[in-house]
Amino acid sequence: MVGTYDAIIIGGGACGLMCAAHAGLLGKKVLLLERNDKIGAKILISGGGRCNYTNIGTSVSNFISENPHFLHSVFKQWTVEDTIDFFESYGIKGKEKTLGQLFPETNKAKDIVAVFSRILYETGQDIALSTLVKSIVKDADGFIIKVESLKGEYEYHTQKVVIASGGLPVQKLGASDFGLRIAKQFGLEVVKAAPALVPLTITGKDADWYMSLAGNSVFSKVSITDISFEENILFTHWGLSGPAILQISSYWKPGQEITIDLLPKFDLDNLIKQERQSGGKRLVSQLLHDYFSRKLVDALGKFLALDIKIASLSKADAKLIVDMVHCFKVKPAGDKGYDKAEVMRGGVSTAELNNKTLESKKIPGLYFGGETVDVTGWLGGYNFQWAWASGYVIAQDL
Ligand SMILES: Cc1cc2nc3c(=O)[nH]c(=O)nc-3n(C[C@H](O)[C@H](O)[C@H](O)COP(=O)(O)OP(=O)(O)OC[C@H]3O[C@@H](n4cnc5c(N)ncnc54)[C@H](O)[C@@H]3O)c2cc1C
Repeated sequence: MVGTYDAIIIGGGACGLMCAAHAGLLGKKVLLLERNDKIGAKILISGGGRCNYTNIGTSVSNFISENPHFLHSVFKQWTVEDTIDFFESYGIKGKEKTLGQLFPETNKAKDIVAVFSRILYETGQDIALSTLVKSIVKDADGFIIKVESLKGEYEYHTQKVVIASGGLPVQKLGASDFGLRIAKQFGLEVVKAAPALVPLTITGKDADWYMSLAGNSVFSKVSITDISFEENILFTHWGLSGPAILQISSYWKPGQEITIDLLPKFDLDNLIKQERQSGGKRLVSQLLHDYFSRKLVDALGKFLALDIKIASLSKADAKLIVDMVHCFKVKPAGDKGYDKAEVMRGGVSTAELNNKTLESKKIPGLYFGGETVDVTGWLGGYNFQWAWASGYVIAQDL
């Protein structure tokens, strides 16, 4: 099929939708190809169905990339205020939850997707659902895009193609390695991909200990070398999850040890000293119960004797308890993989892309945006902010 499109966009997720919407608002005509039978599958389930669509504190430091500076020019063109204003202009007011995370006031992710349906309809853009893009070939006239749909196999020709096909996480939502494959096919460098914002697993002799705590959540400070996050951790049947673990998982490499401060807002050493000053009659376990669940204290008691009066505690034993609480060491066996990851780390190297337009430097007319690119946000709305911003920036150049 020969279209009369200014561009073809592959992927009807956050980036592709924002790109198609802004192309439409600029008076351009695009075709959006999506393998699922609906647009925005990941948006719909994001943030537990409520969609944490941006973070008011977004800065370059909230992203992992081989070259975070690359983000400056994209985020200058499309800011958090632009995201807020854009959705507000379509009737979505933001409500801030913890740590700058913005959700629609209605708590409905489908309201976000509805914005795009409306714009694409009003600006007359074409959407082909249940259409899997199988390959892209370049010839003298541009790109030939081969697709497979319920109507069979056919091809489109276009001068400009946007790869907004996302990353590898959650295959059942349409995820594929398509973007990475196309980048490699055209000789573009790809930064090694890995699951990120993902639960971590514990195996071996410690596994039962973690399993016994499954369901317990503790506000903690979780660190690897010089990066740390203060949020909840959650003990699970397979190891560790919860926001602080998901955050640190994006930095974690196999074999690395993670340090967990289970009581970051207090100084246990001082608390023990204060107890001693008032007689030290309470047991160490009683002191710990002031801060932790019974289950966690019992579990910690498997490592050290806690049913001992604080007055009788030797300095060395007090130090062991303080270290265990403030410097708990964990060496995860691995992660739960792409089906449980929220995002992919790595992707198409930013060195391959024009930082103003996200067009490939080597292959004019080929653009990459969203999760396919080596830009990974923290948990908390940052990944959508990147997807919106990159989609917007590309639309300006189509
Ligand atoms: C469970 C979960 C919850 C999340 N919650 C949040 C949150 O609250 N806030 C936040 O900021 N981020 C969240 N994220 C991350 C966020 O969803 C992604 O970063 C974002 O969706 C990436 O946008 P994208 O457009 O690049 O990719 P996607 O949204 O993944 O869209 C890519 C689209 O391309 C389609 N596609 C792939 N290959 C092909 C092909 N060959 N042919 C045709 N179509 C194709 C896919 O079906 C998909 O619809 C969450 C992720 C998960 C998994």
